[in-house]
Amino acid sequence: MPPSYVGRFAPSPSGPLHFGSLVAAAGSYLEARCAGGRWLLRIEDVDRPRTVAGAEAQILRQLEALGFEWELDPWRQSERDQAYRAALASLRECAQVFDCGCSRREIADSALAPDGAPRYPGTCRNGLAAGRQARTVRLRTEAGVEICFDDAVQGRVCEDVGTAVGDFVLQRADGLFAYQLAVVVDDAASGVTDVVRGADLIDSTCRQIWLQRCLGLPTPRYMHLPVAINGYGNKLSKQSRARAIDPSRPAPALVAALAFLGQQPPDALAGGSPATIWRWAIDHWRPEAIPPRRSIRADAEFWEEDA
Ligand code: GLU
Repeated sequence: MPPSYVGRFAPSPSGPLHFGSLVAAAGSYLEARCAGGRWLLRIEDVDRPRTVAGAEAQILRQLEALGFEWELDPWRQSERDQAYRAALASLRECAQVFDCGCSRREIADSALAPDGAPRYPGTCRNGLAAGRQARTVRLRTEAGVEICFDDAVQGRVCEDVGTAVGDFVLQRADGLFAYQLAVVVDDAASGVTDVVRGADLIDSTCRQIWLQRCLGLPTPRYMHLPVAINGYGNKLSKQSRARAIDPSRPAPALVAALAFLGQQPPDALAGGSPATIWRWAIDHWRPEAIPPRRSIRADAEFWEEDA
């Protein structure tokens, strides 16, 4: 019998853990623990140019100091090229992918979706024009097919991927596999049943479901948590100079993450150990109290004023 609940936290090692990533880690951890399930860690270093030396070790140290416990050794996407290549090959066999010669600029110039985002106009879907070189590999989508899912926090989300985004990239011009492919292949290969992550990724989810269907993979349940933003309205990230979580002071950060998720932890908890805080959080976890918002401002202590 496969386990009935497998969750995961999938940080990108582009910098240390900050309050935004802590919220995603805490939400997925609590859901898994309260379901009596497994919780896996996956290092999402598929985008090699964005990987920062030492960030993975730092994230693991921070998670340990915060009292997270995960099963098995973390997977690293940089070690999973073979699985991604196999998935792409199976899609190619059924002509579900095609080589594309368009540059980003050409696509940006040619078509916009109703929300103003660039939309792939389908230039190469029937073959590369004479003299064009393959740059990327794209997955065929179908305009008019609506993909929907019921998000445990954000409610029902639907997208006609073929119209809104168009055929999307699975292998990039630099040869690296795209996040969309890696995440779908890895979640399925590790038996993930429940994806809990930041709402900044909710717009990718219908694309991922489309890809799961093309690969004949199951669709997990989804819960997208509000994203932590700074006072300028920017998502906490390395680019917006979010502060790294201080591993020598785990308690205040954990309590703030619980409060951010609508859990109303008592003030006294901030003086406790991570183990005490997790005990309280597991006993009192109420996912229905998570605000159904895409973003919420984080306490000022977690970001730089002048960022
Ligand atoms: N690696 C992504 C991030 O750090 C998370 C991807 C996911 O959870 O699907 O934002």
